[in-house]
Amino acid sequence: MASIFTKIINGDIPCYKIAEDENYFAFLDINPMAKGHTLVVPKSEVDYIFDLDEEVYSGLMKFAKKVGRAIEKVIPCNRIGLLVFGLEVPHAHVHLIPINAASDMDISKDKLALKKEEFVEIADKILESFESMT
Ligand code: 5GP
Repeated sequence: MASIFTKIINGDIPCYKIAEDENYFAFLDINPMAKGHTLVVPKSEVDYIFDLDEEVYSGLMKFAKKVGRAIEKVIPCNRIGLLVFGLEVPHAHVHLIPINAASDMDISKDKLALKKEEFVEIADKILESFESMT
């Protein structure tokens, strides 16, 4: 069965899209740890990130870097934190989280409750920033 992220990539489930190329896709996390919290996924569906083949793994990191650069241009933050868990969704992905302190990476903290308009505004800004870089 297709993962929830494959359904998002295929447009069967809506998302706040940030960026896409032939092999990778980025969209806002629906339960964000910070404004601009983004997930970057390979289009090929593999559960564990270390099971990705070398080319897909390095391509994912390269794409995540580009997306991270786009995020930091529009979301005020000290830097972009990068996390990998994969405990909830069995489709390899990287979390990009705008942070100001190490505590901003604490996954046990309450997530932000953003309104739809806020998600749309954030996604539009990052998407525009990403497109201006390519
Ligand atoms: P992980 O697998 O890395 O432990 O966590 C999965 C992440 O995906 C969580 O941060 C969760 O909020 C996010 N997530 C789960 N389902 C959806 C969804 O349907 N849409 C979006 N945008 N994010 C999701």
